Amino acid sequence: MGKPSIVVHNLIKNYGQLRALDGIDLEINPGEVFGLLGPNGSGKTTFLRIVCSILDYTTGYVRVSGLDVVKDSMEIKKITGYVPETPVLYESLTPTEFLNFIGSVRRIEHNTLARRIESFAHAFEIEDNMNTFIGSLSFGTKQKVAIISSLIHDPEIIILDEAMNGLDPRSARILKNLLTEYSAQGKTIIFSTHVLEVAESVCTRIAIIYKGRIVDIGTLAELRQRSGSKRLEDIFLEATGEGDLSPVIKSLKETMSR
Ligand code: ADP
Ligand code: MG
Repeated sequence: MGKPSIVVHNLIKNYGQLRALDGIDLEINPGEVFGLLGPNGSGKTTFLRIVCSILDYTTGYVRVSGLDVVKDSMEIKKITGYVPETPVLYESLTPTEFLNFIGSVRRIEHNTLARRIESFAHAFEIEDNMNTFIGSLSFGTKQKVAIISSLIHDPEIIILDEAMNGLDPRSARILKNLLTEYSAQGKTIIFSTHVLEVAESVCTRIAIIYKGRIVDIGTLAELRQRSGSKRLEDIFLEATGEGDLSPVIKSLKETMSR
């Protein structure tokens, strides 16, 4: 295996008095689909925003593709694609207009851009929505436009914050397949979720994060072996104790009862 694409040592992030990240150590390799799994408020969004250089940290060491997330912010933004938890889209543009706008900001050559927009629209099955104002699209279609806008410059590091949440099962499947394809190309994917089933189905390795700390990390098989139990739900319960679990369990139950 080559050099890790993401290296994090003893990362601490305080928001005033609140310690959101409390000493994160992590190395992620090219080709991984890495899942950050934790209940709401555990620090997932904070971590992902630091990695893609849109949030500063308090102390620690963070390198992405050998670059410093603070000093080399411009470079990091070129090689990363970030899908935020709540994407900002221009409601009065159509997806075609919006993606052309993003593509021009990213300085993607015109013909390349047109080809990519067409092929993403096809892959996500939104060809019929491409010339409708974003403001009048469904939540799931907006989410797809946001995902496409984060992938259009073909980033080597892909960071998705709860990106499956608004997607119907078919669209979620399309995204999973795309991520698997990207990982086969050697790209690095980091994915946060509080939905166990999502982590279980896409990630090559999982870190369970709780109160700003990584409480367990490994492949699903390794996590299972260590805990001696079969289900990710049990591992998660053991790793995070009995408190603060209701959102995760609730979402798990919702997933299972569908
Ligand atoms: P997650 O994405 O796992 O739900 P977050 O990273 O959003 O967790 O939040 C981690 C903790 O930091 C939470 O306690 C949250 O309330 C707090 N937090 C997040 N963003 C801010 C902020 N901008 N200012 C103050 N506290 C914040
Ligand atoms: Mg979050």
